[in-house]
Amino acid sequence: MINRRALGASLAAGLALAALPGVGFAQDNAAQKLPVVASFSILADFVRQVGGDRVSVTPLVGPNGDAHVYSPTPADAKAMAGARLVVINGLHLEGWLPRLIKSSGSKATVATATKGIKPIESAEEGHDAKGGHDHGHDDPHAWQSIANARIYIANIRDALDAADPAGKASYDANAAAYLAKLDVVEGEVKAAVARIPAARRKAITTHDAFGYFVKAYGVEFIAPQGVSTESEASARDVARIIRQIKAQKVPAVFLENVTNPRLIEQIAKESGAKVGGTLYSDALSDASGPAGTYIDMMKHNISEIEKALAAGPA
Ligand SMILES: [Zn+2]
Repeated sequence: MINRRALGASLAAGLALAALPGVGFAQDNAAQKLPVVASFSILADFVRQVGGDRVSVTPLVGPNGDAHVYSPTPADAKAMAGARLVVINGLHLEGWLPRLIKSSGSKATVATATKGIKPIESAEEGHDAKGGHDHGHDDPHAWQSIANARIYIANIRDALDAADPAGKASYDANAAAYLAKLDVVEGEVKAAVARIPAARRKAITTHDAFGYFVKAYGVEFIAPQGVSTESEASARDVARIIRQIKAQKVPAVFLENVTNPRLIEQIAKESGAKVGGTLYSDALSDASGPAGTYIDMMKHNISEIEKALAAGPA
Protein backbone atom coordinates (compact mmCIF):
# COMPACT_ATOMS: atom_id res chain seq x y z
CA MET A 1 0.00 0.00 0.00
CA ILE A 2 1.11 3.53 -0.72
CA ASN A 3 1.13 5.82 2.28
CA ARG A 4 -1.36 8.56 1.41
CA ARG A 5 0.28 11.14 3.63
CA ALA A 6 3.67 10.50 2.13
CA LEU A 7 2.18 10.73 -1.36
CA GLY A 8 0.57 14.05 -0.54
CA ALA A 9 3.70 15.35 1.14
CA SER A 10 6.07 14.56 -1.67
CA LEU A 11 4.78 14.57 -5.19
CA ALA A 12 8.36 14.29 -6.45
CA ALA A 13 8.97 11.11 -4.47
CA GLY A 14 5.70 9.63 -5.75
CA LEU A 15 6.69 10.38 -9.31
CA ALA A 16 10.10 8.81 -8.82
CA LEU A 17 8.40 5.66 -7.56
CA ALA A 18 6.00 5.56 -10.50
CA ALA A 19 8.90 5.98 -12.90
CA LEU A 20 10.84 2.98 -11.56
CA PRO A 21 11.06 0.27 -14.21
CA GLY A 22 9.09 -2.84 -13.34
CA VAL A 23 6.69 -1.08 -10.96
CA GLY A 24 3.89 -1.68 -13.40
CA PHE A 25 0.20 -1.93 -12.67
CA ALA A 26 -0.16 -5.63 -13.39
CA GLN A 27 3.01 -6.74 -11.67
CA ASP A 28 2.95 -5.11 -8.27
CA ASN A 29 -0.46 -6.18 -7.06
CA ALA A 30 -2.88 -8.40 -8.93
CA ALA A 31 -5.81 -7.24 -6.79
CA GLN A 32 -5.14 -3.55 -7.41
CA LYS A 33 -7.55 -1.78 -9.75
CA LEU A 34 -6.37 0.22 -12.74
CA PRO A 35 -6.56 3.88 -11.70
CA VAL A 36 -8.34 5.87 -14.43
CA VAL A 37 -9.28 9.54 -14.45
CA ALA A 38 -12.17 10.66 -16.68
CA SER A 39 -12.58 14.36 -17.35
CA PHE A 40 -16.34 14.44 -16.71
CA SER A 41 -19.22 12.29 -15.48
CA ILE A 42 -20.44 10.89 -18.81
CA LEU A 43 -16.97 9.59 -19.69
CA ALA A 44 -16.59 8.18 -16.18
CA ASP A 45 -19.75 6.12 -16.76
CA PHE A 46 -18.43 4.83 -20.09
CA VAL A 47 -15.14 3.81 -18.42
CA ARG A 48 -17.06 2.03 -15.62
CA GLN A 49 -19.22 0.16 -18.15
CA VAL A 50 -16.20 -1.10 -20.09
CA GLY A 51 -13.76 -1.39 -17.18
CA GLY A 52 -16.06 -3.18 -14.75
CA ASP A 53 -14.39 -4.47 -11.59
CA ARG A 54 -10.86 -4.09 -12.94
CA VAL A 55 -10.82 -0.28 -12.93
CA SER A 56 -11.23 2.48 -10.38
CA VAL A 57 -12.58 5.63 -12.05
CA THR A 58 -12.25 9.17 -10.75
CA PRO A 59 -14.28 11.83 -12.61
CA LEU A 60 -12.92 15.38 -12.47
CA VAL A 61 -16.09 17.35 -13.28
CA GLY A 62 -18.76 15.54 -11.30
CA PRO A 63 -22.55 15.11 -11.65
CA ASN A 64 -24.39 18.27 -12.78
CA GLY A 65 -21.03 20.00 -13.29
CA ASP A 66 -20.12 22.19 -16.27
CA ALA A 67 -17.12 20.71 -18.11
CA HIS A 68 -16.65 23.84 -20.26
CA VAL A 69 -15.65 25.98 -17.32
CA TYR A 70 -14.01 24.19 -14.42
CA SER A 71 -11.42 24.97 -11.79
CA PRO A 72 -9.47 21.83 -10.89
CA THR A 73 -8.95 21.11 -7.18
CA PRO A 74 -5.88 19.77 -5.34
CA ALA A 75 -7.70 16.42 -5.16
CA ASP A 76 -7.94 16.43 -8.98
CA ALA A 77 -4.18 16.98 -9.25
CA LYS A 78 -3.59 14.07 -6.88
CA ALA A 79 -5.91 11.79 -8.89
CA MET A 80 -4.12 12.81 -12.10
CA ALA A 81 -0.72 12.08 -10.57
CA GLY A 82 -1.84 8.57 -9.56
CA ALA A 83 -3.68 7.71 -12.79
CA ARG A 84 -2.44 5.21 -15.35
CA LEU A 85 -4.96 6.33 -17.95
CA VAL A 86 -6.76 9.65 -18.45
CA VAL A 87 -9.83 9.64 -20.69
CA ILE A 88 -10.84 12.99 -22.18
CA ASN A 89 -13.53 14.10 -24.61
CA GLY A 90 -11.37 16.34 -26.77
CA LEU A 91 -12.87 18.67 -29.43
CA HIS A 92 -11.81 21.53 -27.13
CA LEU A 93 -14.32 20.69 -24.39
CA GLU A 94 -11.78 20.63 -21.59
CA GLY A 95 -9.75 23.80 -22.11
CA TRP A 96 -8.61 23.67 -18.46
CA LEU A 97 -7.19 20.14 -18.71
CA PRO A 98 -3.75 20.50 -20.36
CA ARG A 99 -2.63 22.78 -17.55
CA LEU A 100 -3.82 20.29 -14.92
CA ILE A 101 -2.02 17.41 -16.64
CA LYS A 102 1.18 19.44 -16.70
CA SER A 103 1.00 20.78 -13.15
CA SER A 104 0.11 17.37 -11.68
CA GLY A 105 3.20 15.81 -13.23
CA SER A 106 0.98 12.97 -14.49
CA LYS A 107 2.67 10.35 -16.66
CA ALA A 108 -0.64 8.72 -17.57
CA THR A 109 -1.59 7.87 -21.13
CA VAL A 110 -4.19 10.33 -22.38
CA ALA A 111 -6.93 8.75 -24.51
CA THR A 112 -9.25 10.99 -26.54
CA ALA A 113 -12.68 9.37 -26.56
CA THR A 114 -13.89 11.27 -29.67
CA LYS A 115 -10.99 10.05 -31.84
CA GLY A 116 -12.40 9.22 -35.28
CA ILE A 117 -15.63 11.19 -34.82
CA LYS A 118 -16.32 13.78 -37.48
CA PRO A 119 -17.03 16.97 -35.56
CA ILE A 120 -19.85 19.36 -36.32
CA GLU A 121 -18.49 22.82 -36.87
CA SER A 122 -20.32 25.49 -34.96
CA ALA A 123 -20.95 28.73 -36.78
CA GLU A 124 -21.36 30.56 -33.44
CA GLU A 125 -23.77 32.92 -35.13
CA GLY A 126 -24.73 35.88 -32.98
CA HIS A 127 -21.86 35.45 -30.59
CA ASP A 128 -19.85 38.46 -31.56
CA ALA A 129 -21.55 40.87 -29.15
CA LYS A 130 -18.37 41.38 -27.14
CA GLY A 131 -16.15 41.17 -30.20
CA GLY A 132 -13.20 38.87 -30.57
CA HIS A 133 -15.11 35.63 -30.04
CA ASP A 134 -13.51 32.92 -32.10
CA HIS A 135 -15.77 31.61 -34.82
CA GLY A 136 -16.31 28.21 -36.31
CA HIS A 137 -14.86 25.89 -33.69
CA ASP A 138 -15.80 22.24 -33.23
CA ASP A 139 -18.91 21.31 -31.31
CA PRO A 140 -17.66 19.08 -28.46
CA HIS A 141 -21.04 17.49 -27.50
CA ALA A 142 -20.55 14.39 -29.68
CA TRP A 143 -21.96 12.06 -26.98
CA GLN A 144 -25.48 13.31 -27.69
CA SER A 145 -25.59 10.94 -30.69
CA ILE A 146 -25.67 7.25 -29.77
CA ALA A 147 -23.83 6.41 -33.01
CA ASN A 148 -20.96 8.51 -31.63
CA ALA A 149 -21.27 6.85 -28.20
CA ARG A 150 -20.35 3.59 -29.94
CA ILE A 151 -17.09 5.22 -31.06
CA TYR A 152 -16.44 6.52 -27.51
CA ILE A 153 -16.87 2.96 -26.20
CA ALA A 154 -14.55 1.48 -28.84
CA ASN A 155 -11.87 4.07 -28.07
CA ILE A 156 -12.18 3.48 -24.32
CA ARG A 157 -12.05 -0.30 -24.82
CA ASP A 158 -8.88 0.03 -26.90
CA ALA A 159 -7.29 2.35 -24.32
CA LEU A 160 -8.07 -0.05 -21.46
CA ASP A 161 -6.79 -3.03 -23.49
CA ALA A 162 -3.51 -1.16 -24.01
CA ALA A 163 -3.20 0.06 -20.40
CA ASP A 164 -4.01 -3.35 -18.87
CA PRO A 165 -3.47 -6.14 -21.43
CA ALA A 166 -4.31 -8.80 -18.83
CA GLY A 167 -7.87 -7.47 -18.77
CA LYS A 168 -8.41 -7.43 -22.53
CA ALA A 169 -10.92 -10.31 -22.65
CA SER A 170 -12.95 -8.69 -19.89
CA TYR A 171 -12.91 -5.20 -21.46
CA ASP A 172 -13.80 -6.56 -24.90
CA ALA A 173 -16.72 -8.57 -23.51
CA ASN A 174 -18.02 -5.63 -21.42
CA ALA A 175 -17.79 -3.30 -24.42
CA ALA A 176 -19.67 -5.74 -26.67
CA ALA A 177 -22.44 -6.15 -24.08
CA TYR A 178 -22.72 -2.38 -23.64
CA LEU A 179 -22.82 -1.74 -27.40
CA ALA A 180 -25.81 -4.10 -27.60
CA LYS A 181 -27.57 -2.02 -24.92
CA LEU A 182 -26.85 1.15 -26.89
CA ASP A 183 -28.52 -0.38 -29.95
CA VAL A 184 -31.71 -0.86 -27.92
CA VAL A 185 -31.68 2.72 -26.58
CA GLU A 186 -31.04 4.12 -30.04
CA GLY A 187 -34.13 2.27 -31.30
CA GLU A 188 -36.16 3.77 -28.43
CA VAL A 189 -34.97 7.31 -29.21
CA LYS A 190 -35.83 6.99 -32.90
CA ALA A 191 -39.26 5.50 -32.12
CA ALA A 192 -40.02 8.36 -29.70
CA VAL A 193 -39.04 11.01 -32.25
CA ALA A 194 -41.28 9.30 -34.82
CA ARG A 195 -44.23 9.74 -32.42
CA ILE A 196 -43.74 13.54 -32.35
CA PRO A 197 -45.56 15.32 -35.20
CA ALA A 198 -42.91 16.57 -37.65
CA ALA A 199 -43.95 20.23 -37.27
CA ARG A 200 -43.45 20.07 -33.49
CA ARG A 201 -39.91 18.59 -33.52
CA LYS A 202 -38.25 21.78 -32.26
CA ALA A 203 -37.29 23.20 -28.89
CA ILE A 204 -35.06 25.66 -27.06
CA THR A 205 -32.21 24.97 -24.63
CA THR A 206 -29.82 27.35 -22.87
CA HIS A 207 -26.63 26.42 -24.70
CA ASP A 208 -26.04 24.69 -27.99
CA ALA A 209 -25.43 21.19 -26.60
CA PHE A 210 -27.70 19.19 -28.92
CA GLY A 211 -26.16 19.69 -32.38
CA TYR A 212 -25.30 15.99 -32.71
CA PHE A 213 -28.75 15.00 -31.40
CA VAL A 214 -30.35 17.29 -34.02
CA LYS A 215 -28.29 15.75 -36.80
CA ALA A 216 -28.88 12.15 -35.69
CA TYR A 217 -32.56 12.26 -34.73
CA GLY A 218 -34.14 15.23 -36.46
CA VAL A 219 -35.41 17.24 -33.47
CA GLU A 220 -34.29 20.82 -33.90
CA PHE A 221 -32.75 22.60 -30.91
CA ILE A 222 -32.10 26.33 -30.86
CA ALA A 223 -30.08 28.02 -28.09
CA PRO A 224 -29.28 31.62 -27.17
CA GLN A 225 -25.84 30.54 -25.99
CA GLY A 226 -23.21 28.92 -28.24
CA VAL A 227 -21.52 25.52 -28.00
CA SER A 228 -19.63 26.61 -24.89
CA THR A 229 -21.06 28.09 -21.72
CA GLU A 230 -18.01 30.36 -21.43
CA SER A 231 -19.61 33.32 -23.21
CA GLU A 232 -22.99 34.57 -22.06
CA ALA A 233 -25.94 35.10 -24.37
CA SER A 234 -26.34 38.73 -25.40
CA ALA A 235 -29.63 40.62 -25.15
CA ARG A 236 -29.73 40.47 -28.95
CA ASP A 237 -29.40 36.65 -28.92
CA VAL A 238 -32.23 36.38 -26.41
CA ALA A 239 -34.47 38.72 -28.42
CA ARG A 240 -33.76 36.70 -31.57
CA ILE A 241 -34.74 33.44 -29.81
CA ILE A 242 -37.99 34.95 -28.53
CA ARG A 243 -38.87 36.12 -32.06
CA GLN A 244 -38.05 32.65 -33.39
CA ILE A 245 -40.23 30.89 -30.79
CA LYS A 246 -43.20 33.05 -31.78
CA ALA A 247 -42.65 32.92 -35.55
CA GLN A 248 -41.94 29.18 -35.71
CA LYS A 249 -44.39 28.21 -32.94
CA VAL A 250 -41.67 26.37 -30.97
CA PRO A 251 -43.69 24.31 -28.47
CA ALA A 252 -41.30 24.14 -25.51
CA VAL A 253 -38.14 25.41 -23.87
CA PHE A 254 -35.97 23.16 -21.72
CA LEU A 255 -33.80 23.77 -18.69
CA GLU A 256 -30.40 22.09 -18.58
CA ASN A 257 -28.84 20.51 -15.51
CA VAL A 258 -25.52 22.32 -16.10
CA THR A 259 -26.79 25.86 -16.72
CA ASN A 260 -28.55 28.55 -14.71
CA PRO A 261 -32.36 28.25 -15.19
CA ARG A 262 -32.96 32.02 -15.15
CA LEU A 263 -32.34 32.63 -18.85
CA ILE A 264 -34.78 29.91 -19.96
CA GLU A 265 -37.38 31.06 -17.43
CA GLN A 266 -37.11 34.59 -18.84
CA ILE A 267 -37.44 33.30 -22.41
CA ALA A 268 -40.47 31.19 -21.46
CA LYS A 269 -42.12 34.16 -19.79
CA GLU A 270 -41.52 36.55 -22.67
CA SER A 271 -42.35 34.11 -25.48
CA GLY A 272 -45.25 32.20 -23.94
CA ALA A 273 -43.54 28.83 -24.63
CA LYS A 274 -43.92 26.23 -21.91
CA VAL A 275 -40.98 24.94 -19.87
CA GLY A 276 -40.64 21.28 -20.84
CA GLY A 277 -38.48 20.06 -17.97
CA THR A 278 -34.76 19.54 -17.48
CA LEU A 279 -32.47 17.92 -20.04
CA TYR A 280 -29.12 16.45 -19.02
CA SER A 281 -26.79 17.92 -21.59
CA ASP A 282 -23.16 17.86 -20.45
CA ALA A 283 -23.28 15.91 -17.19
CA LEU A 284 -25.09 13.05 -15.50
CA SER A 285 -27.25 13.51 -12.42
CA ASP A 286 -26.00 12.04 -9.16
CA ALA A 287 -26.69 8.34 -8.67
CA SER A 288 -30.09 8.93 -7.04
CA GLY A 289 -31.28 11.21 -9.86
CA PRO A 290 -32.98 10.35 -13.17
CA ALA A 291 -29.76 10.35 -15.24
CA GLY A 292 -27.14 8.53 -13.18
CA THR A 293 -25.75 6.74 -16.25
CA TYR A 294 -25.43 7.67 -19.93
CA ILE A 295 -28.21 5.24 -20.90
CA ASP A 296 -30.54 6.63 -18.23
CA MET A 297 -29.64 10.15 -19.39
CA MET A 298 -30.57 9.41 -23.01
CA LYS A 299 -33.80 7.72 -21.89
CA HIS A 300 -34.71 10.58 -19.56
CA ASN A 301 -34.00 13.24 -22.19
CA ILE A 302 -36.05 11.63 -24.94
CA SER A 303 -38.90 11.01 -22.50
CA GLU A 304 -38.94 14.71 -21.51
CA ILE A 305 -38.69 15.78 -25.15
CA GLU A 306 -41.53 13.52 -26.23
CA LYS A 307 -43.77 14.58 -23.32
CA ALA A 308 -43.28 18.27 -24.11
CA LEU A 309 -43.47 18.12 -27.89
CA ALA A 310 -45.76 15.24 -28.83
CA ALA A 311 -49.06 16.63 -27.60
CA GLY A 312 -50.59 19.73 -29.15
CA PRO A 313 -51.44 21.15 -32.56
CA ALA A 314 -49.37 19.60 -35.36
ZN1 LIG B 1 -21.93 22.10 -23.39
